[in-house]
Amino acid sequence: NKITIAIDGFSSTGKSTLAKQLAQHLGYVYVDTGAMYRAVTYYAMQKEYITSAGFDVAALVNDLPNISLQFQFNQALGFAEMYLNGVLVEKEIRTIEVSNFVSKIAEVSEVRAKLVEQQKEMGKNKGIVMDGRDIGTVVFPDAELKVFMTASATTRAQRRFDELVAKGDAVTYEEVLKNVEERDYIDTHRDDSPLVMAYDAIAVDNSALTREQQFAVVLDLVAQ
Ligand code: C5P
Repeated sequence: NKITIAIDGFSSTGKSTLAKQLAQHLGYVYVDTGAMYRAVTYYAMQKEYITSAGFDVAALVNDLPNISLQFQFNQALGFAEMYLNGVLVEKEIRTIEVSNFVSKIAEVSEVRAKLVEQQKEMGKNKGIVMDGRDIGTVVFPDAELKVFMTASATTRAQRRFDELVAKGDAVTYEEVLKNVEERDYIDTHRDDSPLVMAYDAIAVDNSALTREQQFAVVLDLVAQ
């Protein structure tokens, strides 16, 4: 019997790594909702609705009908990649610039409404692992399994920093930590759907867990 799995938590807790592992193992569809918020952010940056000088919320809201988001499965990679208006943007949406603006974009209720609707639609068929911030609370309140991932901000910043450096991004650890803390703040203080743990979610603190250990812990939960 296929189920719906919701994985929520703070940035850089390894949600997407875990969700991908689970989906591959179970033969489920994996959906990275952060990628959708990132793609809208990238669009807003290209259109200069959001810059370091300011954010024209009305212009973005007005243009939302012209934003089409799609996941396309990449056989070689074993997971789906994000397409914005037909263009592959996987690489473009993972930069520190996008990370710096994304929480602002995610605060716009019209943006959330559009993406949540699309996410609910994708979940109509069971056998899905979705990761994000509001999956267990807003998108799939009836999910059979809800996991809430946590880890200290410094642990998460170090992981994120290592990833960005490995990709050749010129960032400092301090800059990454600041970004992680700012996103935590905005994500938890949003009016619309603040990042909170669903009452029936299971918390997994992975500060001291390897990928393999974390995977084993969650597979156990799936089996229950
Ligand atoms: O998961 P990731 O770090 O890629 O998400 C990027 C940002 O998108 C988060 O910091 C958050 O502001 C926003 N987000 C959200 N709701 C989701 C997924 C992501 O608000 N379901």
